Amino acid sequence: MEAAIKQSSLDIDAIRAQFPVLDQEVNGYPLTYFDNAATSQKPIRVIEALNQYYSAYNSNIHRGVHSLAEKATNAYEATRVSLQKFINSGQKEEIIFTKGTSESINLVAATYGRQNIAKGDEIIITGLEHHSNIVPWQMLCEEKEAVLKVVPISDKGEIDLEDFNALLSDKTKIVSVAFASNALGTINPVKEIIEAAHKVGAVVLLDSAQAVAHLEVDVQSLDCDFLAASAHKMYGPTGVGFLYGKQHLLEEMPPYQGGGEMIKEVTFEKTTYNDIPFKFEAGTPNIADIIALNEAIGFINDLGKENIRIYEDELLKYATEKLEAIDKVKLIGTAKHKVGVLSFIIEGMHPFDVGMMLDARGIAVRTGHHCTMPLMQRFELEGTIRASFAVYNTFEEIDTMVASLQKITSRIK
Ligand code: PMP
Repeated sequence: MEAAIKQSSLDIDAIRAQFPVLDQEVNGYPLTYFDNAATSQKPIRVIEALNQYYSAYNSNIHRGVHSLAEKATNAYEATRVSLQKFINSGQKEEIIFTKGTSESINLVAATYGRQNIAKGDEIIITGLEHHSNIVPWQMLCEEKEAVLKVVPISDKGEIDLEDFNALLSDKTKIVSVAFASNALGTINPVKEIIEAAHKVGAVVLLDSAQAVAHLEVDVQSLDCDFLAASAHKMYGPTGVGFLYGKQHLLEEMPPYQGGGEMIKEVTFEKTTYNDIPFKFEAGTPNIADIIALNEAIGFINDLGKENIRIYEDELLKYATEKLEAIDKVKLIGTAKHKVGVLSFIIEGMHPFDVGMMLDARGIAVRTGHHCTMPLMQRFELEGTIRASFAVYNTFEEIDTMVASLQKITSRIK
């Protein structure tokens, strides 16, 4: 009923026209790009921003007094302000540029974690996390003799808040969970998780790699302590991302890496560190890509998160119904609340072979463990086939994939 009322108002043809890469044939068929959870495509305005920086004002930032350096610095800092607004953080200093989600999580583990975790303390994650939100915590636990606790995943691919609450105690110091799962699409009940974790005095990091391009993300209303994301999954360039942290936490944390930019004063006897955010941005950053990220944010803002959400929900609903109707296709991950990710297996076929057959028809999906090996073990699977949607995908593309899957499955005896 709700879907009927909330019809998407986006002009998908006009959106597609902004993505040059979509207009091509692969293996003799029009490209159907369904690998958006791995990385999304880039609109022309992002590509042009990169070109413009390198061809018109390439310069190092912050230290230069000349005009090009000032222009580059202003453009770089403008992205920080856009990100601040994008996730509704209170201060622009709470936005730290990183290489991406993985580096953001590693930064928190190596600084906040090292400073605050002691022997016997506990860190909670969930069973559906990406390796990027598992391994940094394992490394920290090993170093500090702390304990990693994992919230179990149901057959539908959800966590039960009761299970989460049962793991919480005054030993819990950090809770780090995916806002949305890259492998199953599940949207976690992050607001409830944050509230409960705060009651026992733990801080919460949200791995928002799969959320920022698809869901409303408001760090103040969520009240998360840290939030990590990657530009390349939100129509921006590869090689950049960001960490949001509450100001008082970032100020108390030690630096992550040493080098230029992160210092106030250096002598051989002692170094004093710069204020946030620069304390965490050692060395020359990825200036061009950070500047171009501003255009990706602009692209999302121009369409409107609400419109994107409604449209991608329609795609997900349509594709789910179509896939469920194919004999021998089994969906993995049927959570009530999902982003546009469809993981499935085909009885009697290896996911890799299905991926190759779809590629032969110009359809790009991902196959394998999706960097979530423990989750695959939970479902006793080697991997799945994953189709993941972005705002430029169409119902016709879903029909194309469904027709191919029907052909593929009809040959299974
Ligand atoms: N977490 C999740 C949920 C992800 O989907 C990904 C990327 N697949 C990451 C973390 C890691 O992101 P990146 O490789 O950009 O650091």
